Amino acid sequence: MIPQVPTYLLDRCGLEDSHTLDVYRANGGYAALAKVLGGMDPAEVIEELKDSGLRGRGGAGFPTGLKWSFMPDPQKDRRARYLAVNADESEPGTCKDRVLMEKDPHGLIEGILIACYAMRVPVAYVYVRGEFRHPYNRVAAAIDEARKAGLVGENVLGKGFDCEIWMHKGAGAYICGEETGLMESLEGKRGHPRPKPPFPAGHGLWGMPTTVNNVETLFNVPFIVDRGASWYRTMGTDASPGNLLVGISGHVERPGVYEIPLGTAANRILEDWAGGVLNNHKLQAWFPGGSSTGLLPASLIGLAMDHDSLKAAGSMLGTGAMIMLDETACVVRAMEVISRFYDHESCGQCSQCREGTQWLHQIFRRMENGRGRMEDIDLLESLASGMAPAKTICALADAAAIPTHAVVKHFREELEAHVKAGCCPRKTARTPETVEAGA
Ligand code: SF4
Repeated sequence: MIPQVPTYLLDRCGLEDSHTLDVYRANGGYAALAKVLGGMDPAEVIEELKDSGLRGRGGAGFPTGLKWSFMPDPQKDRRARYLAVNADESEPGTCKDRVLMEKDPHGLIEGILIACYAMRVPVAYVYVRGEFRHPYNRVAAAIDEARKAGLVGENVLGKGFDCEIWMHKGAGAYICGEETGLMESLEGKRGHPRPKPPFPAGHGLWGMPTTVNNVETLFNVPFIVDRGASWYRTMGTDASPGNLLVGISGHVERPGVYEIPLGTAANRILEDWAGGVLNNHKLQAWFPGGSSTGLLPASLIGLAMDHDSLKAAGSMLGTGAMIMLDETACVVRAMEVISRFYDHESCGQCSQCREGTQWLHQIFRRMENGRGRMEDIDLLESLASGMAPAKTICALADAAAIPTHAVVKHFREELEAHVKAGCCPRKTARTPETVEAGA
């Protein structure tokens, strides 16, 4: 039985035709937009967001109201300005924005419209990962519906506010989920991240002031505006208020996307929401927020799922994508797969990332392949230290280095046993032939 906690993010998702404007409006949809356009000053909206303490749900956890306040005053800076919605959702294990786009696209559109009003932005782009055909179609259809109803385009709700929303389909590159890579891609170029500074609020899309927000982040906005910052702070923790969508996958009885208050202990999410470890096996390891947040041992499953608790444990909340590995899983094999992914997705601009991700993958592959050496374990650490923290243009190198550090720190004995045996001590490793074939 899933615990009864106050929810709001997924409340409409179970309704029939939840993706339609009629159902959205019948359940309070667009009331927050009407409230904002009916008399709230843009600065007031930003203050409400700041008071709520909403932190971005795309991985970094940056305070949303503060981010919005970085946009220059349009009276003083008359350049064009944009909102870019990051719907690329490419972090392995992450699948929560997809649910919102598919089931409740008007919630995202209302969040976009309020964000645009607050930052006085007339144009938003929704950058959707190429594989998400159904979510893309759902959001595109919802924008058309909203436009016909006078909610998108010129003179929204007759209040003199103009806001156009355009859709853009990515081509499946992980790095286009990084905000500057996303902007390059939106401009029609190869998705190569840009060095920061300059930051997007001063020099973003086409060199103009731009804010990039994640889907779930924007989805929170109408609720905060409608019900108030103090309501929002009744959920979660002081430093991480509100609810979080957790996508839990791997060896669990009930994989899925669940809404939990931030600060809920990970073991409660595993047991109470996801039904425990599959087949009553023991938990061996888990990722708290996607593959880049680092593998943690089962002994840390009591950690609270919020930004500060996980940071204090040397990990990150990331995108809230919990991946569970039971006692039968091979951590070397898991790392071989993950390092192969980052090697493949590196854009190649920075030598630490281009070379480092390739080396990490080669070492994990030879360990998995029965050709590992004891000194490889320290070599992995040394390579990862040369790649991060913050030594490259974007955080992909960190995303590859963090799980490497974590696996050496928490699973050194497992790595040593694997090297000694020439295969997985748990006897689940692939054969050298299947590894060579990339299976
Ligand atoms: Fe490209 Fe990697 Fe450098 Fe990011 S860190 S810009 S992905 S080479």
